[in-house]
Amino acid sequence: MADEWRRYLAQQIELGGAEIILSRPPADAQEPREPMDERTSDPVERPDRTAAAGSSKWRKGAPPIPGPGLAVMSPTPVLLGNDLGVLESLDAVAERIRTTFCCDLCPNRTKAVPGEGNPHARLVLVGEGPGATEDATGRPFVGQAGQLLDSILDAIEVPRSSVYITNVVKCRPPQNRKPLPDEIAACIPYLHRQLELIRPKVILAMGGTAGEALLGVRKSLGELRGKVHTYNGIPLVVTYHPAALLRNPNWKKPTWDDVRIARQLLDR
Ligand code: URA
Repeated sequence: MADEWRRYLAQQIELGGAEIILSRPPADAQEPREPMDERTSDPVERPDRTAAAGSSKWRKGAPPIPGPGLAVMSPTPVLLGNDLGVLESLDAVAERIRTTFCCDLCPNRTKAVPGEGNPHARLVLVGEGPGATEDATGRPFVGQAGQLLDSILDAIEVPRSSVYITNVVKCRPPQNRKPLPDEIAACIPYLHRQLELIRPKVILAMGGTAGEALLGVRKSLGELRGKVHTYNGIPLVVTYHPAALLRNPNWKKPTWDDVRIARQLLDR
């Protein structure tokens, strides 16, 4: 399916008279010096900027950044009645997730899947909940949907190593069903804390469950797409879940548009 996505992207871009390039630049290519992260003095891992701004293939035919949607503030740990605010690192949050049972999903997990990636990520991707491969490995988006996600990230020239990937619920729901409202309510404080620690520049919510959970609303994906919401002042784009694209290829084009909106927000 990842190959199919690549072919689809190539077709889309060919329509604009260009062909998509998914390969990395040569190892000896001169990179511009990376800026420092203001908070940590660590070099910030930026999306691939070897292609001059404006010339990247994904830009061809990309939709303009849409207008604002909802603006929400996350509830504080105090308001949610937990002590996650004392956890000062993503590792500490992950350790808490791995060692705690917070809802009925936890006792049935093989491994909890807290999330993984760059702690200073400028882009955070949020899915729904772990599937079978994720439950077996403890890593997010490593199954079929994950391969598709890797291709999408490649296509917008964002290395997977530069982002942080996590889910609304950290343990696999049985038969990959949608997490129930009480399971989401029990687990979402971890996601709020992760986002508070990372403070990314952009959030991409993949699927209605992630969009609704982060924005604290009950709305269809159709209502949530096509706007730039803000979560604690951070631009948040909602798109289809990669697993949904595996089921319905008609959603590839709107997804490609959404991710290119998120990609443009990263450059802003
Ligand atoms: N689907 C998700 O929502 N998350 C994963 O980690 C894998 C598949």
